[in-house]
Amino acid sequence: HGTSHKYIAHRMAEILNKDLSELNIINCHLGNGSSLACIKNGKVYDTSMGVTPLEGLVMGTRSGDIDPTVVTFLCENENITPHEANQWLNKKSGVLGVSKLSSDFRDLEEARDKGNEKAGLALDMFTNRVKKYIGAYMAQMPELDAIVMTGGIGENSDTMRREILHGLEHLGIELDDKKNDGTRGKEVDIAKDGAKIKIYICPTNEELMIARDTKEIISK
Ligand code: AMP
Repeated sequence: HGTSHKYIAHRMAEILNKDLSELNIINCHLGNGSSLACIKNGKVYDTSMGVTPLEGLVMGTRSGDIDPTVVTFLCENENITPHEANQWLNKKSGVLGVSKLSSDFRDLEEARDKGNEKAGLALDMFTNRVKKYIGAYMAQMPELDAIVMTGGIGENSDTMRREILHGLEHLGIELDDKKNDGTRGKEVDIAKDGAKIKIYICPTNEELMIARDTKEIISK
C-alpha cells in the first residue's frame, strides 16, 4: 500500500495547496487489503501493516492484529503446521472468517440489512479497528489537516465511512452526512462546514504513482 499512501500524500498536498513537507494527514486505504498511514510532515511516520500485510486492520480475509499466542494455540490445539496457521490468518480470517459469508463488504452490508448478525459483527470489528488506529495516529500528530478515505471501501462505501467516523466528533472529526451519503469515487471534502479537520474522499491511483516513480528512476 506504500504506493497508494505516497500518491495520496502528493495529491492531498496539491488539493490542500500545501507544501508536502507541511502536510499532516491520516490516510485510510480500505479495500480487500486495508491499511492506515500516519503521514507527518509529508512522510509516513507510522503505518498499520508490518513485515507482511497481516498486521493492523481487520481485512477481507486477514485477521489483522491478534495476540501472537493465537498462532501457537492454533498449532497445538487444531493440530496444524505453522504454514497452515499462516494460511488461516491470511486467507480464512478477517471479515470472511467472522461472518462465514464473504470478504466483499457489499455482501456483508446487504446481509446485515437482512438481519445477519455475524455479518454485522464482522463490520463492527472492521470499523472499530479503523477507529482505534485513527485515535492512535492522532496521538502521534502535532496537528491534523485531514483524514482521507481511499481504496474500494473508502471511495465507495458511504456506510463504512459513516460508521468509522461517527463518534469521533470530540476529536474534531465531524462528518457531514449529506455530503457523505451517496458520494462515490470523487475528490471531495465531506466534513461539516467549518470543521477543524477535513475529511476527504480521494480515489487512489497506484498505476500513476508507479509510472512517476519509474520515470524518476530511469531519468537518473
Ligand atoms: P480494493 O481492494 O481497493 O479494490 O477494494 C475492493 C473491495 O471494495 C471489495 O471487496 C468490496 O468489499 C469493496 N467495495 C467496492 N465498492 C463498494 C461499495 N459500493 N460498498 C461497499 N464496499 C465496496
